[in-house]
Amino acid sequence: MNLLEQADEVYRKNFPNSTWFGKCIFISWYCDVGTCKFCYRSTIKKNIKSIENARRTPKSIFVEALLAKQLGWRIEFLTGGYNIYPIEKLVDITKRVSEIYNNKLWLNLGVLKEEDLKLLKPYTEGIVASIETINTKLHDKICPNKPIDKYEEMLTNSKNLKKSIAIVIGLGEKDSDMDLLFDFIKKHKLDRITFYALKPVKGTPYTKGPTTDEYLKWVANTRINFPKLEIITGTTANRVNEISLLLKAGSNAITKFPATKLFNSEKARIFEQEIKKSGRIFLSTLTDVNKLKELKNIEIESNIKEKLIEYIEVMEKLKS
Ligand code: SF4
Repeated sequence: MNLLEQADEVYRKNFPNSTWFGKCIFISWYCDVGTCKFCYRSTIKKNIKSIENARRTPKSIFVEALLAKQLGWRIEFLTGGYNIYPIEKLVDITKRVSEIYNNKLWLNLGVLKEEDLKLLKPYTEGIVASIETINTKLHDKICPNKPIDKYEEMLTNSKNLKKSIAIVIGLGEKDSDMDLLFDFIKKHKLDRITFYALKPVKGTPYTKGPTTDEYLKWVANTRINFPKLEIITGTTANRVNEISLLLKAGSNAITKFPATKLFNSEKARIFEQEIKKSGRIFLSTLTDVNKLKELKNIEIESNIKEKLIEYIEVMEKLKS
């Protein structure tokens, strides 16, 4: 049996034959750290004159929560850079999104203090630590101002919350770093992990992402070593053809696809064909325009409704 077949067998013994799209909801384009070498927010930080203008309007955040609920997307997490809002405002936004979505949320909002975690807890299912890469030497080079140990403290302080980390493949990690990752998963008793394939950003030193095999190797080995761990994997518009392989490697669900921009597009159709090819049942939709249009009848505050209609009008259009 090859690596993918082994991972697939482990997955099938432990999870239902279904999958979903995980939608990240971004709160802001600003990040107070802004020095991680691969990150888009680092490339734009110097051009951001005011943090306020780099924040998304709450109404567009709430619209994405409405879309997620209607279209069967699971909210992967609420995210944004460091120090984007005072904690009271962050709690307000989290509360409202969780009410709209009718579920508690995963949060990926940098290192949160213990007292902040307490305020967020009523609306929070779990906490994500964006470690990016597990090898400390490589990590310190790529993310010099967000040390792993602060994330470890946060995970330790996240009592009675689920725990997850996010890892980017393609930053210069070695296969031998997988053991470090597995030790970390065990040490913090993680419930979930999200893998991304690096998407090179203009203005950073990176020019290419990992090959499909390099990406799959991390996912499949993690599945084989952790049969019950929830594994989420990121794709992009250019990587949709590897979705069936990511599922075969034991991934529970797919995230990072620009679902609002590419709803009802050719890439969205390929995404859904890939799910079909894997044999899994898709619990979400990226193409069902009728389901999307049903949202036009929703009763909600007029400013949110107006924004929602703007989104629907763009999303329902057929795109190549
Ligand atoms: S902390 Fe996160 S959002 Fe901020 S620069 Fe680093 S990777 Fe980007």
